[in-house]
Amino acid sequence: MNECAPSSASRLSAALAAIRAGGLSAQVSTAPSVLETHSHGEAMEAACLPGAVVFVESTDHVATVLRACHANRVPVVAFGAGTSVEGHVTPPDHAISLDLSAMTAIVEVNAEDLDCRVQAGLTRQALNARIRDTGLFFPVDPGGEATLGGMCATRASGTAAVRYGTMKENVLGLTVVLATGEVIRTGGRVRKSATGYDLTSLFIGSEGTLGIITEVQLRLHGRPECLSAAICQFPTLDDAVRTAMEIIQCGIPISRVELLDSVQMAASIRYSGLTGYEPLTTLFFEFAGGPAAVQEQVAATEAIALSNNGQAFAWADTAEERTRLWKARHDAFWAAKAIEPGARVISTDCIVPISRLGELIAGVRQDIAASGLRVPLLGHVGDGNFHALIIIENTRQGYDRAWDLDRRIVARALALGGSCSGEHGVGMGKLEFLETEHGEGTLAVMRALKNTMDPRNILNPGKLLPPGRLYQG
Ligand SMILES: Cc1cc2nc3c(=O)[nH]c(=O)nc-3n(C[C@H](O)[C@H](O)[C@H](O)COP(=O)(O)OP(=O)(O)OC[C@H]3O[C@@H](n4cnc5c(N)ncnc54)[C@H](O)[C@@H]3O)c2cc1C
Repeated sequence: MNECAPSSASRLSAALAAIRAGGLSAQVSTAPSVLETHSHGEAMEAACLPGAVVFVESTDHVATVLRACHANRVPVVAFGAGTSVEGHVTPPDHAISLDLSAMTAIVEVNAEDLDCRVQAGLTRQALNARIRDTGLFFPVDPGGEATLGGMCATRASGTAAVRYGTMKENVLGLTVVLATGEVIRTGGRVRKSATGYDLTSLFIGSEGTLGIITEVQLRLHGRPECLSAAICQFPTLDDAVRTAMEIIQCGIPISRVELLDSVQMAASIRYSGLTGYEPLTTLFFEFAGGPAAVQEQVAATEAIALSNNGQAFAWADTAEERTRLWKARHDAFWAAKAIEPGARVISTDCIVPISRLGELIAGVRQDIAASGLRVPLLGHVGDGNFHALIIIENTRQGYDRAWDLDRRIVARALALGGSCSGEHGVGMGKLEFLETEHGEGTLAVMRALKNTMDPRNILNPGKLLPPGRLYQG
């Protein structure tokens, strides 16, 4: 549970009175079912009811809430869609959960410049549906139905990061409400700028601890002329991992390369009705571009896969078949959950330089065998990023076994020059690894930034930064 010093009930009452007086009475809810849905994200066991939930609809609303919370020292936890998996949205005691999911407007689309500005509560699926007729799309695609503000705050990525990058590469600017209620704009619409500190990057991945993002200027991309998707199955996990590594090392501009091991593939065949495939280790590929470029990528990829014992490619020729494949990949977490109904699934997330991925996965398999747990493996292997979905019984002992395995996996990734999270972020679940990964000096700079930008420590306290000399958490 959260380590933040609890704010008093009376301070919360005073803040709520100020929020209501600011014209937001209709936005405040203390209904038990609403408090419950805002008490946790996905996967982690941590849960704590907020004192109230405020459903904001504009930057002004957010500023009103933050002014009241700053004045009364009440913690505020931004809540997008609540799909984060490391306890990010679990509030401390007597906190306000600030729900941005109603902020779904598209402020502008600049098709000629390939950018748009949206409110932070819009989901990436809704954005893509609404700009479909422009011929443009936004490529960052985490598996959950996440909001673009939440994706900024967790520096999210997904299956297309190998080609298009993560949120870090696809956000041009932000509107942010600071802890005091002051509103600032960072970045802009230009593709590059050499002026001042890069505050946009500072907020990307800040997990609601430095400010609340209310608008996002996004890069858009042209829909490729040709898209082609294929599946290749392998006799061993090593063969598949070597294939992915060689594709990247050869510089093939593949748009997606995703790994599902045999346990995950069996689960996905059952859950997503992926008929016609074997429960074997599988790579899902997508190629994009002009017809000649796609043909070239396919030929080079197929040659690498065959040289690593891959079976013949199974092609997804129609748009419907491609959608079915990628939906199955995005639903992998739910497929793993369905392996043992009633069980919990802890999703680890770590990343290493691509040349060390084979070594990492070989070691992780030894750890899994020693743990006696059932653990499907999958990952955005083109980036060196992979997940172990640790299936456990929903008991204290089950969680302890999962955390023990998680720690071993992360230790291996860090020893190989990796990071304890490629995309899910820190929240509370990864706090213990930050000092090993970054070192005390770097953490001291992060704490100094946090103190400057949130001197009363009201913004998602207890997340992202382990407590230390300059920051108590
Ligand atoms: C099935 C499944 C698959 C997933 N796959 C991926 C994946 O492939 N890649 C990936 O990166 N992640 C993945 N995730 C994790 C999750 O979807 C991402 O972390 C996502 O970016 C969270 O967005 P959200 O809107 O749900 O944010 P929330 O969970 O609501 O919030 C996440 C964090 O951001 C903060 N926050 C939210 N909105 C704002 C805002 N407007 N301003 C400031 N702070 C804010 C919150 O306080 C919290 O700290 C997956 C999760 C699930 C359940």
